[in-house]
Amino acid sequence: MSTGSPRVGIVAIQGDFEQHIAMVDGLGLATAELRVPEDLVGCTHVIIPGGESTTVGLLMQRYGLGDALIAAGRRGLAIWGTCMGMIMLAERIEGRNQYSLGLLDVTVRRNAFGRQVASFEDTLRMAGPDREVTGVFIRAPIVTEVGPAVEVLARYEGEIVAVRQGNVLGTSFHPELTSDTGVHAWFLGLNAASNPS
Ligand code: GLN
Repeated sequence: MSTGSPRVGIVAIQGDFEQHIAMVDGLGLATAELRVPEDLVGCTHVIIPGGESTTVGLLMQRYGLGDALIAAGRRGLAIWGTCMGMIMLAERIEGRNQYSLGLLDVTVRRNAFGRQVASFEDTLRMAGPDREVTGVFIRAPIVTEVGPAVEVLARYEGEIVAVRQGNVLGTSFHPELTSDTGVHAWFLGLNAASNPS
């Protein structure tokens, strides 16, 4: 267990984990690449990047990282999933029976924005960090159902695209693909002074 400064574990099996590492590095915090349960030792926060949820789910299950993250999330470790990462955190995935960690009491719909507009970016307001963010959506999921403990932090065109349940955060979009470190800083507890909530 770490009592010192933040150490941010980033699931590094597949997907855009390098962009998260670069962003956290830029904020001056230590990072660790997570592939097996032992990699989690000493981590104070975890980020699950964007990527392909079917592939990553399969490998997280096989390496035992999935079980370790489920246990850590239930103990209160701060975990944030972007896009595929949010799918991995969800309890229910519409129309699929694929592996997920079940730490967020939500239903997600994969690739929810359709073929023509599969990838796009736009600004939106996000509660929590309480700021305008650039939402980069890449074959992004939406949240179609939330349980009572889940707080909706952002919507885009009426659809839920950011949620929090206590220590667990999910965003449909990718702040790591922008130059704005605001959502990372908020998740990592770095801007408590400027954001008293
Ligand atoms: N469409 C991907 C999935 O369902 C997620 C895309 C992403 O993470 N950018 O796994």
